Amino acid sequence: MALLDRAIVRLLPAVPRPVVQRLSSRYIAGPALDDAIRVVGRLNAKGKLATVDVLGEEIASADEARAIAGQYHDVLARLDEKKLDANISIKLTALGLELDPDLCHENLEAVVVDAAARGRFVRIDMEDSSTTDRTLALHRRLRDEGHENLGVVLQAYMRRTLEDIPGLDNVRICKGIYVEPADVAFQEFDEVRRSYVRSLEALVAQGSYVGIATHDEYLIEQALRIVGDAGLPPHGYEFQMLLGVRPDRADELVAAGHRLRVYVPYGTDWYEYSVRRLQENPKIAGYVARDLAARVLFRR
Ligand SMILES: Cc1cc2nc3c(=O)[nH]c(=O)nc-3n(C[C@H](O)[C@H](O)[C@H](O)COP(=O)(O)OP(=O)(O)OC[C@H]3O[C@@H](n4cnc5c(N)ncnc54)[C@H](O)[C@@H]3O)c2cc1C
Repeated sequence: MALLDRAIVRLLPAVPRPVVQRLSSRYIAGPALDDAIRVVGRLNAKGKLATVDVLGEEIASADEARAIAGQYHDVLARLDEKKLDANISIKLTALGLELDPDLCHENLEAVVVDAAARGRFVRIDMEDSSTTDRTLALHRRLRDEGHENLGVVLQAYMRRTLEDIPGLDNVRICKGIYVEPADVAFQEFDEVRRSYVRSLEALVAQGSYVGIATHDEYLIEQALRIVGDAGLPPHGYEFQMLLGVRPDRADELVAAGHRLRVYVPYGTDWYEYSVRRLQENPKIAGYVARDLAARVLFRR
């Protein structure tokens, strides 16, 4: 990315919210559950699976955390009602991890039990490194309590990831999106790619079901090699992509017979998710610059 582009990306949080909302609309199903259900229906019709994420990372009270858990129960009920092929993805901070670990456990357990009764899977997203130990521990606790429809995410940029792999039987592997210090996470693009490949190889070697979450063509090719060499059947792994990112490549993977799941966020708390997506969009600096220029020139 050019120097100017990088500067604009850093300034993204200063961009007016309506601009961020307009630019990020492709990444979010919409504000309401109906929006998510409609998008999942469209994806299923194209042979794509989905995972639904209720946006809501900034939780200030136990009531808010319970409200987010309540929304996940609504999602599960609607997915069933419409017979859609989708599971759910949850951030533990949205269920109250920072407020009270017991509250978070209670909320998560209720959602996991509800999902299990409906034959659905729950993926715990991985957040910044301050939450990694607590996230893995809560996942382990629920698994040890007998809940099997539950899996975690590992981030290839984390230096610890290879050590976290043993014992995990269902993992989404992604690069990682949070800003982390160098002693915790690899900083170089190629180091992260190498770690991703090593982690995916280790997961496949130990027989884990993997969600291969990436839009990076190099990693998609490496993943195809790894699952091919391991002789995994088509239901033994899945590719995962974000709503609005490389949908044509997703179509190609589906046409070639691979399982492909799309991450479908919805909700009114769209801002933080949007800024993260926009910051990783290689074309975004250009869009933002053009948009700001238009606003200045035409006083929109
Ligand atoms: C299903 C799914 C779940 C995820 N869950 C988590 C999680 O729990 N925790 C976590 O930390 N991170 C998560 N991530 C985010 C992930 O860590 C990366 O930040 C993100 O996927 C970008 O990495 P990449 O592998 O696509 O490679 P990149 O090198 O970032 O992207 C490769 C190419 O994909 C395209 N691309 C990527 N992102 C965009 C975008 N926003 N807009 C337009 N084009 C784009 C571009 O062409 C880019 O060159 C998830 C990602 C996916 C796909």
